Amino acid sequence: MCPSPPRQGTIIAFKQINFAKFSSIRVGPVADVYMIDSHEYPNNAYLIGAANNLLVGPEHPPLMKLSKAFDYIKIVGNKLHIGAATPGGKVVSFCKKHDLAHFEFVAHLPGTLGGMLQMNAGLKEYEIFNHLHKVHFKDGFKLLGDIEYGYRTTNIDKVAFEGIFELENGFDHSKIEMFKQMRSNQPHDPSAGSFFKNPEGDYAGRLIEAVSLKNHRIGDMAYSEKHANFMVNLGKGQFKDAIALMQLAQERVYNEFGIWLENEVAVIDKRFMGNSHPEIPPKT
Ligand SMILES: Cc1cc2nc3c(=O)[nH]c(=O)nc-3n(C[C@H](O)[C@H](O)[C@H](O)COP(=O)(O)OP(=O)(O)OC[C@H]3O[C@@H](n4cnc5c(N)ncnc54)[C@H](O)[C@@H]3O)c2cc1C
Repeated sequence: MCPSPPRQGTIIAFKQINFAKFSSIRVGPVADVYMIDSHEYPNNAYLIGAANNLLVGPEHPPLMKLSKAFDYIKIVGNKLHIGAATPGGKVVSFCKKHDLAHFEFVAHLPGTLGGMLQMNAGLKEYEIFNHLHKVHFKDGFKLLGDIEYGYRTTNIDKVAFEGIFELENGFDHSKIEMFKQMRSNQPHDPSAGSFFKNPEGDYAGRLIEAVSLKNHRIGDMAYSEKHANFMVNLGKGQFKDAIALMQLAQERVYNEFGIWLENEVAVIDKRFMGNSHPEIPPKT
């Protein structure tokens, strides 16, 4: 059992979530998740979105999640206000209906706006930060220029409640098909998307393949035969198998190429949080 975070402010309830069903990789325990419906939240809990980029383990910290109160999208003046719990699909439908540009790529990104903001999610050069104006946090707004961000990374370490975007007309239907094509090499088995970030000037998938781990399976978890950087669940995949595969690729790639594969997927288990660079002695 995880320690309960102190109940404070107007946290209304907690919800039981089975991560083996809820998370996109279909791995994880059943956990009590605190639902936040105001700008108050416990400071010792880990925030989840729709768990499309998470691998939750049995020793997870207390968890929290934004409630439906943050699932909205509206036009205010010349800006688009999107609540952080809003699913990407809803954003795209809204943009289609109102003929708004720049969110077509979100049609093929599973997750909520909060999750997308936190990692600057995107497809190639189409990224969620491209047309961002500011983000609403507990202590106020941060303008785009005040947030550090790059390829699949930002320095957002607090709960984002809302993203406010520049408004421009022109939903481009042809882009929807283009983005669909861009994803045609991705496996359909349950996964959390790309497992590792691409190291500068290289591809994590190429490196995993180069150390003979494409299609490598431990238990029911495997690096996909379709795309080596997708760790897929082929049935009843377990957390420990996913971790064993993760560590195997990191170790082999480091020993072979001197490159440390950094997780894109967030591993939510106290034993594996905050230690992404263990010392692995290179092979002599
Ligand atoms: C099949 C598949 C394909 C994918 N392809 C891509 C791709 O091409 N490009 C890409 O970028 N991603 C891709 N992903 C990953 C995923 O779509 C993104 O990471 C998405 O942003 C996750 O959103 P989420 O709501 O599920 O967040 P979660 O997975 O629940 O959380 C991810 C991170 O965001 C943080 N977070 C969540 N909500 C908030 C908030 N309100 N404020 C602050 N932090 C928050 C969490 O703490 C966590 O660190 C793919 C995933 C899958 C399953």
